[in-house]
Amino acid sequence: MKLKDVGEFGLIELIRSKTPRMRGVRVGIGDDAAWVSVKHDSLLFTSDMLIEGIHFNLGWTSMQELGHKSLTASLSDIAAMGGAPAYCLVSLAVPDMTTQQIEALYRGVRSAAAEHRVALVGGDTCAADRLIIDVFLAGYAPYGAILRGGAAVGDDICVTGTLGDSALGLALLAEAGHEASARDRAYLLRRHRHPTARVKTGLQLAKRKLASAMMDISDGLLQDLGHVCRASRTGALVRHEELPLSPAFTRVAGRDGSDYALSGGEDYELLFTSGRQHRRAVAEVARRTGVRITRIGECVAQKRGVTLVNEQGVSLPISPRVGHDHFKGPVEGAKSRHSRD
Ligand code: ADP
Ligand code: MG
Repeated sequence: MKLKDVGEFGLIELIRSKTPRMRGVRVGIGDDAAWVSVKHDSLLFTSDMLIEGIHFNLGWTSMQELGHKSLTASLSDIAAMGGAPAYCLVSLAVPDMTTQQIEALYRGVRSAAAEHRVALVGGDTCAADRLIIDVFLAGYAPYGAILRGGAAVGDDICVTGTLGDSALGLALLAEAGHEASARDRAYLLRRHRHPTARVKTGLQLAKRKLASAMMDISDGLLQDLGHVCRASRTGALVRHEELPLSPAFTRVAGRDGSDYALSGGEDYELLFTSGRQHRRAVAEVARRTGVRITRIGECVAQKRGVTLVNEQGVSLPISPRVGHDHFKGPVEGAKSRHSRD
């Protein structure tokens, strides 16, 4: 059915009727504002906007995957503070679409919400010439928040999961000239379309006070590491051969593919720094949460900038295509002394 046949309020009623009742929600969708209970004395807030044609392409993703991914981007931000997500609002600007499409989008939102026991408590709906999804998410920081600015010289630099799969999946969709078996292609596309927020791992790191600084990798490892370094007033040395790459990634992109791992977006993995004395405890968190954690380098003096080295310790050039900035476009080399001239 077309949206214009059910109207704005018909659509909101459809969304409301399929939204499960959750603990802590006094008033959810349907009144002027949501009214919720809180269990801790401080809250984390984050919001993320996804715009058709900029953040996603409806030819390359299903509405359900898009809904799941929209909430996942915000879940990942809460995870990166070491927090526990709790309540979300989803606002939509919708072009000419069907109710089935929007229902599929919300199935995706609900599946990500259910994984982390997040309650959908409201949003806003309007018409536009393309689809825009805005997710607001509130969470708790039961063990305090882990900021970007706490890294110290000598700390290990660690990442969860594997890097570059999402960007390589996107390149496959864009047919950027890679050969992939059906299985590898399916794996990489899934990492692009259905990323995972590392909420449990972030919470465990916070609970055990293992991370001195943390953020999630959404704009590429080097760019995001640059943010941690600037906030912490350190430099970083990253060992190229330690970058965690999935078997599918290695088969499809090979050794030359590390650009995707260094500067590809939307990994939604955690990047954190940790004192060397915590190595065993960090490995224990990886085991307990079932998420790989890899030490990729260490924090060094700020004046050394962000450098990438090979096995012999020789600096490698950092590709100019490092990360992304919505106003500037692709961003030049993360303050590196080794970027190509
Ligand atoms: P108002 O005119 O006061 O902004 P709306 O008619 O926009 O109210 O919204 C009515 C109710 O429906 C509110 O509780 C709002 O949070 C909820 N709502 C509106 N759009 C959405 C949406 N896209 N997803 C979830 N809840 C929504
Ligand atoms: Mg409204």
